[in-house]
Amino acid sequence: MTCVERTYSPRTEMPETDARERLVDAHIHLFDFMHETDGAPALIAAMDAAGVERAVVFGMPVKKKWDVAEPGRPGYYMDDVARCYYFSLTDLLVLEHLDRLSDADRARIAPMACGFDPTDLSAVTQLERLFDHHPPGTWRGVGEVLLRHGDLSARLVGELPRANHAGMRRVADFCAERQLPLVVHSNASSQGHEPEAYVPELEELLRVYKGDVLVWCHAGISEIHNEHDHVPTVGRLLSEHEVLHVDLSWAAVDDVLDASDDPEPQWVELIERFPDRVVLGSDVLGHFGAYDEVFGRTARILDGLSPGTRQKVARLNAERLWFDGAG
Ligand SMILES: [Zn+2]
Repeated sequence: MTCVERTYSPRTEMPETDARERLVDAHIHLFDFMHETDGAPALIAAMDAAGVERAVVFGMPVKKKWDVAEPGRPGYYMDDVARCYYFSLTDLLVLEHLDRLSDADRARIAPMACGFDPTDLSAVTQLERLFDHHPPGTWRGVGEVLLRHGDLSARLVGELPRANHAGMRRVADFCAERQLPLVVHSNASSQGHEPEAYVPELEELLRVYKGDVLVWCHAGISEIHNEHDHVPTVGRLLSEHEVLHVDLSWAAVDDVLDASDDPEPQWVELIERFPDRVVLGSDVLGHFGAYDEVFGRTARILDGLSPGTRQKVARLNAERLWFDGAG
């Protein structure tokens, strides 16, 4: 496939007949780890420039601490060894920023709630209050819940979050009761373990989950999967659990695309086997200057797909999950 088919290059004005492929970004954070942001209008401008019609927007469930022992202010969780702590304000900040948009632009965003500690057995009470406090439909789901997350897990205060934790089970039950998509980041493994070491934790959650949609962010891929073929595991889980969806973003994009940024055949085959269960995401954090570049590269995944599957992965699946199928 060639780049000629790409229609998401930056543009300043809409064409007379909009021949662009409409995209939905199913994974973007309005804030970075320090809880800073370019703001919702900048997000909309970046979406327009990249041909992205709608986006599923998370805050950031944790905030990086600037520890007194560190000489410089960190910008990213990896910048030093200081801890990250749960930051519940994130959810209300998301709404506050979205309120600055026009009604038409606001309707392009599906906000998600994520600012809770998934190892807290009473986190679900917080979610109930949050969801009950706002009009129905305000929140479109729960996530991105950060569970196994390599170096981030090592920096989290408190207990290590896992997909099969009792607190997470309650959150999953909440999503099932209210028919909300649940979006989790649960790495398949981490350094020092076999490449699929944590997959059974996710499977345990999938076995008890009574909801309709569970999205596995990045299909559980992290840097440790560079030399490992993870596709058979993703295929097995998708075939065994109808509720499971995967978002291809962040480390997953590096796995799906080869050195020339063309999609790997085994991934194309997998996506064609499960065309209704895959969405794309940018996983950009709070700053949107490189948005077009990041999501443009992600959208290269579409170049390997048949026309029908391409439309589903580009937007229809995400619209079904988060926008009531609005086309
Ligand atoms: Zn993310």
